[in-house]
Amino acid sequence: MSATTGLPPYDDSNIFAKILRGEIPSRRIHEDDHAVAFHDINPQAPVHVLVIPRGRYVSLADFSAQASDAEIAGFWRAVGRVARELGLEGSGYRVLSNMGPEGGQEVPHFHVHIFGGKRLGRMVPATER
Ligand code: 5GP
Repeated sequence: MSATTGLPPYDDSNIFAKILRGEIPSRRIHEDDHAVAFHDINPQAPVHVLVIPRGRYVSLADFSAQASDAEIAGFWRAVGRVARELGLEGSGYRVLSNMGPEGGQEVPHFHVHIFGGKRLGRMVPATER
């Protein structure tokens, strides 16, 4: 655990770190100084895109506590821009970030999911524990 945040340390071998370094291929649709966006390998909706910061942040908790104002602003501007460029603004979309074990986070590099392309229903279905 990090002494400052109580969160696990960043693991440079996580799959999104490898995608950022170009060691694993991805279908990138956007990249800039602060963020990279690519299609999810296992889409849960007609449009399912992941947006990740370039910085080494484990989760939303880590990112919100440790990232600079410029990184946070740049990241969220990229999220909005990607959704707009995907043509989702008229129909609407959902942004979701899983944080930690009970949030269902599998990849320990902060990311948001953008879902769209169909009526998504309300919130999140219950899953088994
Ligand atoms: P989490 O559960 O951590 O919020 O979401 C991780 C997401 O990463 C999942 O939706 C999963 O399908 C996606 N994912 C895992 N490995 C890869 C990969 O190698 N490439 C891409 N494009 N997506 C991945």
